[in-house]
Amino acid sequence: MLVLVINCGSSSVKYNLIQTEDEKEVCSGMVERIGAVTAIIKHHPANSPKTKLTKFVANHSDALQEILNYLLDEDNAIIKTPDDIKAVGHRVVHGGEMFKDSVLIDNIVKDAIEQAFDLAPLHNPPNLKGIEAAEERLPNIPHVAVFDTAFHHSLPPHAYLYGIPNRLYRRHKIRRYGFHGTSHYYVSRQYYKLTDKPKADTKVISCHLGNGASITAIDGGDSVDTSMGFTPLSGMVMGTRSGDLDPSILFYIIEKEELQLNSLHSMLNRHSGLLGLSGYASDMRDLIAEANNGDRRCQQAIDVFCYNIKKYVGSYMATMNGCDAILFTAGIGENSAYIREKGLENLEVMGIELDKERNENAKRGEITKISTDSSATDIYIVPTNEELVIAIDAAKIASASNQSPWV
Ligand code: AMP
Repeated sequence: MLVLVINCGSSSVKYNLIQTEDEKEVCSGMVERIGAVTAIIKHHPANSPKTKLTKFVANHSDALQEILNYLLDEDNAIIKTPDDIKAVGHRVVHGGEMFKDSVLIDNIVKDAIEQAFDLAPLHNPPNLKGIEAAEERLPNIPHVAVFDTAFHHSLPPHAYLYGIPNRLYRRHKIRRYGFHGTSHYYVSRQYYKLTDKPKADTKVISCHLGNGASITAIDGGDSVDTSMGFTPLSGMVMGTRSGDLDPSILFYIIEKEELQLNSLHSMLNRHSGLLGLSGYASDMRDLIAEANNGDRRCQQAIDVFCYNIKKYVGSYMATMNGCDAILFTAGIGENSAYIREKGLENLEVMGIELDKERNENAKRGEITKISTDSSATDIYIVPTNEELVIAIDAAKIASASNQSPWV
């Protein structure tokens, strides 16, 4: 089934057109800077060169139309009619407690996504905007929501409850939700498939290390703990997000810096993490380059990030009573031998032995074993593919739904 996968931000629409039978991407691209004087529009058809143009794009609906125009253009020969697309899969960041799985989108689902606006104010509003824009442009096919939180619904109460009055959980659903669920799900399944390990008896620690970063403990195929919490702000230090803090720091900053709440929100989400620590950059490549030039604060930012990896891996080894495999994925996890090595150094005592040569020589984009043959714990690089998970879920739900004569 040909599925269009959409991921909307406040001023961007990313897309992937995926043929689910052979799991192949037909085309991908994005429209950035929606609403600005000139938007940037990029397309990358499989086996053809990338294209890039700039023009004014007023809103998400027009961005969707730009994408469809490109896919339908005779010169590009990607699809012949909009009816070639049989379903749309939407990435939705926060599903609250309600969504344990992906769902066919109807008005009730849209209301529930809106109810979770407070839980993910940066993500859910543009996600819903994207759903409405896509429904307008592709009205006759099933639209499916795939939630970043869904995979973590198996968290037990002792992992998701915070030490605050229980009525706050009951009244306001304040608890750990966890994110990057489709990525942690995908890489763990790739590992079971590759090694023929039975899911039920296998314990995995999945490290999604990108601009956003989270680490998840997976036992018997289920997420049992994860570093992100009520929102994607907590857990690891990230590109621009602070990660975990002593909550008292917030009161202290408000008083000392005379900050308003919205400035605090922006500081913790946009100006903290690796960027805040280094005072230089949020991008790991830039930090490594500058640290190599002798910049002490860039090196410290890297050290904090790697120390975070080690702390989560160690604590999840303890909570799961061991672990069969550690998986690295996303931009940093897949591409930085240095961060993988530094994040796992001196863990031999826990049966974690990285093979330095395998780690250094790992080929980009391939599943690669990087542990020594004697390591009690496997260590693998597993490139993530969240879009494929979304496309497959959308195809399954679209096939099961009898709402459309087109599937
Ligand atoms: P993502 O959010 O998954 O796209 O990951 C983005 C992050 O991956 C940025 O911090 C990049 O600097 C980092 N990254 C990508 N390639 C490399 C690399 N070769 N070495 C270190 N970091 C990298």
